[in-house]
Amino acid sequence: KMSDYIYSIEAKEVNKTFKKKTKETIALNNFNIEIKKGSIHGLLGPNGAGKSTFINILGGLVKKDNGNVSICGLDIDKNSKKSKFKIGIVPQELNIDPFFTPYELLELQAGLYGIKKIKRKTNEILSNVGLIDQKNSYARTLSGGMRRRLLVAKALVHSPEMLILDEPTAGVDVDLRRSLWNYIKEINKSGTTICLTTHYLEEAEELCDRITIINNGQIIKDDTKNNLLKLISNKTVLFQIQSNIILPNELKIFNPNIEDGYLKMTYDKNSTSLKEIIDILNKKNILFNEIKTYESDLEDIFLKLVQSS
Ligand code: ADP
Repeated sequence: KMSDYIYSIEAKEVNKTFKKKTKETIALNNFNIEIKKGSIHGLLGPNGAGKSTFINILGGLVKKDNGNVSICGLDIDKNSKKSKFKIGIVPQELNIDPFFTPYELLELQAGLYGIKKIKRKTNEILSNVGLIDQKNSYARTLSGGMRRRLLVAKALVHSPEMLILDEPTAGVDVDLRRSLWNYIKEINKSGTTICLTTHYLEEAEELCDRITIINNGQIIKDDTKNNLLKLISNKTVLFQIQSNIILPNELKIFNPNIEDGYLKMTYDKNSTSLKEIIDILNKKNILFNEIKTYESDLEDIFLKLVQSS
């Protein structure tokens, strides 16, 4: 019955308000989310959106006011200890004791989880994250990338079914970012569900199957990455027209709109080329002086969604 669940994370109507003397901050407001088993799921949102609060609820560091949360099919209130064993959380900050070696650090962590010596997989995990040669080096001698991988290793000590990564590549250079991405994909391929928070839209685009955009403690968009990218394949073109025109029927599919002397249309760059539109204008003898095009990216869509929420 171990894998008898569809969602690695399921949250229903979760609320969390932080109270400090006179000030109250609503961090999560009727928050709902479903993270499918086996997926890589991205949580996106501006600072203060509520991402860390949600992760901290999953990790048992923050207590929700109400609502239901289950991890791998286990309700966190009814099965608080068991559900904690199902996830590993990789924190953002690199607070590794500099005088521990990777081997010692993982052994210590295994001890905290009460894993018996013979059941520990310290060397196997260190090999998997590419730190076996550094197993006896002090953490302070490790490079930034190695430290990140050590944090991942630490979160994998108890063989969790799900790994949660908080900004896994924040402040990391481009090459290292790519190698961490590949590493995250490998962990996922081996059967571990992944949830990550990120500021980098490129990271979400590269890794995630599904993306949830959060703002003000609420979900403002939750869709597959591919559907979100479809929104991005829309291009806008503006033709500065010379006189008032009658719009030909052939242009109707591009949602034409005339404003301030410009004919504005949108089209899907995957199915239409700008040349096709220009050919129609030429055929209909519609004269124009200037052409401007705009392409939206995930950033635009993100900003639009956040601003309108
Ligand atoms: P994110 O991780 O998306 O940046 P957070 O979950 O950290 O967002 O924060 C959500 C809101 O809750 C913010 O307004 C933040 O200031 C507030 N908040 C988070 N943790 C605490 C806390 N321990 N005490 C008071 N307010 C908090």
